[in-house]
Amino acid sequence: MARTAVVAGGAGFLGSHLCERLLADGWGVVCVDNFSTGDPQNVAHLADEHGFRLIEADVCEGPLAVEGEVTAVLNLASPASPVDYLELPLETLRVGSEGTRHLLDLAREKNARFVLASTSETYGDPLVHPQPESYWGNVNPIGPRSVYDEAKRYAEALTMAYRRTHGVDTGIVRIFNTYGPRMRAHDGRAVPTFIRQALAGEPITVAGDGSQTRSLCYVSDLVDGLVRMAGHTLAGPVNLGNQEEISMLRLAEWIRELTASPSAIARVPRPVDDPSVRRPDTTRAREDLDWRPTFSTARGLAETVAWFQSLSRGERGALQLTGAEDL
Ligand code: NAD
Repeated sequence: MARTAVVAGGAGFLGSHLCERLLADGWGVVCVDNFSTGDPQNVAHLADEHGFRLIEADVCEGPLAVEGEVTAVLNLASPASPVDYLELPLETLRVGSEGTRHLLDLAREKNARFVLASTSETYGDPLVHPQPESYWGNVNPIGPRSVYDEAKRYAEALTMAYRRTHGVDTGIVRIFNTYGPRMRAHDGRAVPTFIRQALAGEPITVAGDGSQTRSLCYVSDLVDGLVRMAGHTLAGPVNLGNQEEISMLRLAEWIRELTASPSAIARVPRPVDDPSVRRPDTTRAREDLDWRPTFSTARGLAETVAWFQSLSRGERGALQLTGAEDL
């Protein structure tokens, strides 16, 4: 019988790619989203695919009623970019706590595998580099970013408590910065911001001196890791991310080269509690999930720049035009 996945947050950036991949692998998909930071247009092209259902619902509002058998519940529902979670601080805390609890209850009711999309932000401004899963992190619990970091840390604790107390088959992945087509041009994350600015010929705004680093994972690689985790019994947490680490200044220069942009590089203040370094130790993902990223940063950035360029030329089909009005 076909496997069915409930993808909460399925109309978002990562969620929509995950829905696509699961359908391609023969899964039925129930996409649940309240469209707070996602967009139904992200999954509109899947509407006629066999086995796809879209439910508009806020996962915080109560237990989800899903008909039939469910094999896996994947919880990606949460504002994820700093612009979004700083605008939606209480909603972010609530979806990490109440929302996660309702989805865990659904997994328990259906005897399904539960996968939590946690984040490298649980490591905060790390004092260990690169970050292994055994590192407990360095998070400011009361700073502006804490609404996201602590919501995810609570969601991890709740997930483990359901595993220990109720025997739910749970898995936690800690996602490091992921990028690719369908990101919103104004979501505030470095890759879409730099590309938008470069394409518009505006100054590319690098925070601080730009020496802070990130490790950027291309979306299809990340989705592959999520699918492997859904089909496994591993509890995790498991880091998913690319190990190529680059400074934000280098990223800005790289995007300027790729877009042949005349943009200058401008300095803006560093956000409060902005991590200085970020690189995953992915030994566990490699050994336990046989997962490794296949896209180099060079290839992933080229793909993403090409997507934004075609978007700005209006070459994409209407179904993929999310964000076009922003460019
Ligand atoms: P996104 O904002 O594009 O997607 C989040 C989705 O969740 C949106 O469609 C939004 O409408 C939905 N959502 C939010 N609150 C909801 C609620 N109460 N009920 C139902 N749906 C709700 O962000 P994304 O980058 O695709 O991130 C997806 C998940 O992956 C998030 O949980 C995020 O924390 C995690 N993550 C992403 C990254 C990354 O680099 N993209 C890194 C670490 C973790």
